[in-house]
Amino acid sequence: MPVHAGKRMYVSSTIADLQEKENTQEFDAWLHLASMGDDIILDLPIKFHKHYNKLAAKGQRLNSYIITNKYVQFAFEVDPGEPLKGTKAIGIDTGINALASVNTGQQFGLDTKGMVERIKRCKHGSNGQKQARRALKQRMDEVVKEVLCHIKDVDCIVVEALKNLNYKSKLKRRLSRNIRRSIGTWAYRYWLRRLEQACEMNRVHFKSVAPAYTSQRCPSCGYIDRRNRNGPVFLCLRCGHAGNADVVGSRNILERFLTGPYGARYQPWDVELSSV
Ligand SMILES: [Zn+2]
Repeated sequence: MPVHAGKRMYVSSTIADLQEKENTQEFDAWLHLASMGDDIILDLPIKFHKHYNKLAAKGQRLNSYIITNKYVQFAFEVDPGEPLKGTKAIGIDTGINALASVNTGQQFGLDTKGMVERIKRCKHGSNGQKQARRALKQRMDEVVKEVLCHIKDVDCIVVEALKNLNYKSKLKRRLSRNIRRSIGTWAYRYWLRRLEQACEMNRVHFKSVAPAYTSQRCPSCGYIDRRNRNGPVFLCLRCGHAGNADVVGSRNILERFLTGPYGARYQPWDVELSSV
């Protein structure tokens, strides 16, 4: 009887052949080894492991084998089928010219600016200001509905985060500068909260990314420069890419999420880059 020396033997179909054997209790197949030199022929009795049966049902067994002194290893080729589709995500930038700008180019709440300016004109704490704030809140609730209505097939909304930022951090300062210039911190908080609640109700994931050069980065070539943005207009100083500054911001927000650690399973929703 030959003794296995303990090394892994790699044998191909020219030497080995698996001959399945039915009607036996003890084992399932013979691994028939021929041409082992000097006309030796070996028939190894094989008992299939449960993993073998699982893989055999799913895939195609390859005709090469690894033989150790304890077991024989088989290899299977399994067709994974169609790749799993990522789910659809959009990026939303929040601003004063449009409360919500989506990376696809759509904008919502284009009347926000007048309402925010009315709040700022009113005396702090006055009834007029309270009224103006209420009006803005009401309008923001409507815009949340408009956005959710518009993006029926979207499973994920990505926004720029305000929360969880250290007060002294650079990011916070950078964001608060942007927010001060736009709708104000409390309005931004309210808007994000309402958007998040609406997402929960509609089973839409709500994700946020840290703010970083959102309004300064070119979504086409990646060039970052404060001068890329001039008010509502974005014009890349390097490649000449032009567009609505808020829509550019939302594209950067989405891209930051998609290329980040949690974005891999998502795809941008219906992005028509040419329209931006
Ligand atoms: Zn560019």
